[in-house]
Amino acid sequence: MDYKDDILGTIGNTPLVKLNKLTANLPCLVLAKYETFNPGNSVKDRMALQMIEDAENEGLLQPGGTIIEATSGNTGMGLALAATVKGYRLICVISDKQSKEKVDILRAMGSEVHVCPSNVSPDDPESYYSTARRLAAEIDDAWYVNQYDNPSNSKAHYLSTGPEIWEQTDGKITHFVVGVGTGGTISGVGKFLKEKNPNIKIWGVDTYGSVFKKYHETGIFDENEIYPYVTEGIGEDILPKNVDFSLIDGFTKVTDQDAAVYTQKLAQEEAMFLGNSAGAAIKGVLQLENHFNKEDIVVVLFHDHGSRYVGKMFNEDWMKEQGFK
Ligand code: PMP
Repeated sequence: MDYKDDILGTIGNTPLVKLNKLTANLPCLVLAKYETFNPGNSVKDRMALQMIEDAENEGLLQPGGTIIEATSGNTGMGLALAATVKGYRLICVISDKQSKEKVDILRAMGSEVHVCPSNVSPDDPESYYSTARRLAAEIDDAWYVNQYDNPSNSKAHYLSTGPEIWEQTDGKITHFVVGVGTGGTISGVGKFLKEKNPNIKIWGVDTYGSVFKKYHETGIFDENEIYPYVTEGIGEDILPKNVDFSLIDGFTKVTDQDAAVYTQKLAQEEAMFLGNSAGAAIKGVLQLENHFNKEDIVVVLFHDHGSRYVGKMFNEDWMKEQGFK
């Protein structure tokens, strides 16, 4: 017989899939690390399980305890899988700019959800960061995950995502391109790949309205870079500890409109039904065209599934309201 002991055993070992149409004008091979095959339909299952297991081992999380996290949805989904299997209570604090589908899915998976305003600064007591911290202080036996600064986040990608990409490309990968939010994916994968071959280039995809690109280029945390944007999951108005800027060769910024339009193109031209950070990531690859040669093997990571965006990028009325069509 061939089976897993529980659903957590299906996390990781996702396929690498060639892009054929959208990248036809690039000289190189472009391969997508296709993370929606994880049981929670996103890459974040990997780090959610790693963070919980490390907290168990360090005695931070007691049997039957409460897990609290500020999450844009995908980490919450990963935490919900592990919390249900392992018997923990889960409270997710989410900002009101996230799609309704993400909130509904979290509730369906047994999480309590608090929705907070997104148009306040991170230090505002109403912000989702502050609300998560307050709940963690108020509730006995609570453990605040803090994916932004929790080293188990990038560790998960150092231990699983990075080695998988290395093995799947027979060590021939030359460039890794990925959207950056907490920084866990880029830093964990980037560290593993650079240790194997320091010539591999690591590119981050950022959004307009986020501080990463300017900070990486100048070392200045410029508040003028911060303004509201639509793309979900990437870009930040803080510098999470999980972003290791020393591993990153450069950032490219993608507009909200391009991210949305390229998310549609991935579905329509490659039959890849993905979230809008995947649209941003593939547009980022196209923007980096001049960095690639014929022999290069570029891996782009697609974080999450299109089902979470049916009311947004996959809804023509929404696209028109945003002025994207
Ligand atoms: N895309 C989506 C849809 C995400 O949920 C996230 C996580 N915030 C990212 C990209 C960025 O990944 P990371 O947090 O590892 O930088």
